[in-house]
Amino acid sequence: MLRVGELLPGSQRIIVLNPDIPCGQIKCAFFDFDGTLSLLRAGWQDVMVPMMVEILLELKTGETKEQLTALVREFVDRLTGKQTIYQMLRLCEEIRNRGGTPKEPLEYKREYHERLWQVIRGRIEGVKSGKIPKEKMLVPCARQFLEALKERGITLYLASGTDTEYVLDEAEALNIAKYFDGGIYGAIDEWEKFDKDILIRRILTQHNLKGPELVSFGDGFVEIEETKKVGGIAVGVASDEFNPGNWNEWKRKRLTEAGADLLIPDYCEWQILLAFLFGERSH
Ligand SMILES: [Mg+2]
Repeated sequence: MLRVGELLPGSQRIIVLNPDIPCGQIKCAFFDFDGTLSLLRAGWQDVMVPMMVEILLELKTGETKEQLTALVREFVDRLTGKQTIYQMLRLCEEIRNRGGTPKEPLEYKREYHERLWQVIRGRIEGVKSGKIPKEKMLVPCARQFLEALKERGITLYLASGTDTEYVLDEAEALNIAKYFDGGIYGAIDEWEKFDKDILIRRILTQHNLKGPELVSFGDGFVEIEETKKVGGIAVGVASDEFNPGNWNEWKRKRLTEAGADLLIPDYCEWQILLAFLFGERSH
């Protein structure tokens, strides 16, 4: 019998949050990109949050930097997994609520990306040139896990809130694009037309799948929540992006709240995880 909050038998770091996971039916797997597989954009929150706080501080509402940081952090986090533009739309709303006149959300998104690029450019170029080993910029054992899923004939999807051109480029740079025969999806300019919830529903209809035939992996609120809404299996990846292989306690808490069925810090126990998901162990 599995119990809530306990480790999966035989594992050191796979936490069971839902003891009644309907295992053994998986046909498709859905992956978020940043923080779930790729470490190239590690620290994006530390770029986005201070930028937004700076903008809100300029409105001089009397709110302290700490108060605004808590507020921004909360909504940025809540919207993680959706396209970046949603976080910018929310920023505009917060500016308006404080009597300010926001710029276009796309303008904030551009500014954010320029700042982020300064932080991540070296990593992306380093991986492309071979100066930085690809595996260093992947959540530990991600490649082995993806390969094992492919060997079992599972259709893989990759989806990110980052713009499509960057996701494609970065997945290629890490040499993992080839695993995603279901497709690689990112944010598009017509952002109302695409998001992870739409994609998850589309996967189910396209393959005529029942909920438990889909498993999702993500480190953000949105992908976990959307997967649970359609009855899929949601694995929360509470990865510490600066100390790969360790738990990020903040993510662990948020993924638990989002309704994840299982929690992992990385894929190093992929054999145990796979056997469980495919219903090959007694429990
Ligand atoms: Mg992510």
